[in-house]
Amino acid sequence: MNEQWYFDIGDGQTYGPYTMEKLQAWAESGNLMPTHRVRRADSEEWTIAAYVPGLELTKAAPVKVAIVEEEDRSSALGKLVSGLGKKLKGGGSDGQAETAELADSVALCNELLEIAYRRRASDLHIDPEENIVLIQIRVDGQLETVRKLPKSFHAPVLGRFKVLARMDISERRMPQDGQFVYELGPDNQKVSMRAACLPTTHGERLTLRLLALETELLTLNRLGMSKKSLRLFTEIANQKQGMVLLTGPTGSGKSTTLYAALRHRLANKPGRIITVEDPVEFDIVGVAQAEVDSSDKLSFHSALRNILRSDPDVIMIGEIRDEDSADIAMKAALTGHMVFSSLHTNSAAGVITRLVDMGIEPFLVAATLRLCVAQRLLRRLCPDCHQGRVLTEIEAANIDRPDIAGATIYEPRACEKCAKRGFRGRIGIFEMLPIDTGLERLIVEGASEIELDEYARDRQIPSLLDDAVEKLLAGAISLGDLIESTKI
Ligand SMILES: [Zn+2]
Repeated sequence: MNEQWYFDIGDGQTYGPYTMEKLQAWAESGNLMPTHRVRRADSEEWTIAAYVPGLELTKAAPVKVAIVEEEDRSSALGKLVSGLGKKLKGGGSDGQAETAELADSVALCNELLEIAYRRRASDLHIDPEENIVLIQIRVDGQLETVRKLPKSFHAPVLGRFKVLARMDISERRMPQDGQFVYELGPDNQKVSMRAACLPTTHGERLTLRLLALETELLTLNRLGMSKKSLRLFTEIANQKQGMVLLTGPTGSGKSTTLYAALRHRLANKPGRIITVEDPVEFDIVGVAQAEVDSSDKLSFHSALRNILRSDPDVIMIGEIRDEDSADIAMKAALTGHMVFSSLHTNSAAGVITRLVDMGIEPFLVAATLRLCVAQRLLRRLCPDCHQGRVLTEIEAANIDRPDIAGATIYEPRACEKCAKRGFRGRIGIFEMLPIDTGLERLIVEGASEIELDEYARDRQIPSLLDDAVEKLLAGAISLGDLIESTKI
């Protein structure tokens, strides 16, 4: 049977059905653009149809054997597609062509945003190089190239996004920030975008951060905490006063967990929630968020003090960087506020020693700190194609867990569902160190990080590695990523 395809050129209408041969003839004659999409008559899923000579990463529709129909070049679509192709190459100087070019850039920008949305990307990057414009998206923390466009696309694409983000389009030599909301996907979901424009030697580069996509994932039970960890975390997060501190390297998902904690509070306990952040990464409805430049210490500390005067129940401070901000956070936690924040150290026990090193009195740390959380963010294995194998004795010894030799672990493979990457989404690994009376005593006595750690292991508190091993055996993460993230 002849396969039928529908065709979409970005003007809001669907054309077709047409045979594959017809699509391919158009593709071969160079009359398709990166904004054109096709879908099989029996499927709802659109794929990119465009083939533009010299653009390696745009792809033609897959070749299928089918009966050749006589091509009708005089059809309305034929003319339209032909016209678009000419416009692209010609760069005509008459007003009509310019208007059409503008319309094309609108369609192209829309297409790029749709791709980023569909792939659940966190960022879209537009980087001008010497002869081309590189379009990349960040999916699960990793960059992927989606397009290489001719340099002539740079100005119209940048112009379109700058207009959307309400930036000054005539300013090309200074960095600019902006934001806008755009409806994407089949359900027209509103997605908040944060735009940042930076001049480089080859022209301005633009980064768009897609915010709503992450926000959608910002619930505690989607972070990958074990049931026990989740219970502990929510129990402490719901307390009236005290402090919860998160730690981990950049990109370990600390802010995701902080936001998820705030959303959990918002949904479960009435109260005023105020944040001081640099920058505000996600907008949360119902939370007062203040964006303060933390490198300007004076304004950062005065913002923190101001916030205490505005009678909040919960305070989130993006990051504690120095003694002053630690001091304000401690005082807030002592005076009837629940404080969430993050700190740069490597381990949960390291949070305690870092606070003391900053100059905070150990008894104050013991009195306010309720929970230390160390976390890392790993790629989640695609559950549809991951493949089991036996963990060897050497491998088990290498990760310091000889007891699990012979267990089944999983390796990434490739399938359609994960776009042949072997991974889909991300998962956190956590170490949760609750401050009990034993730890309080050790903190006041000035115990070292090693002693604090020993106490935690004696108490059977799962370490970062323990949590990672549990997820390795559950088929959620790969051995390679486990070793990389826990640095054994
Ligand atoms: Zn897969």
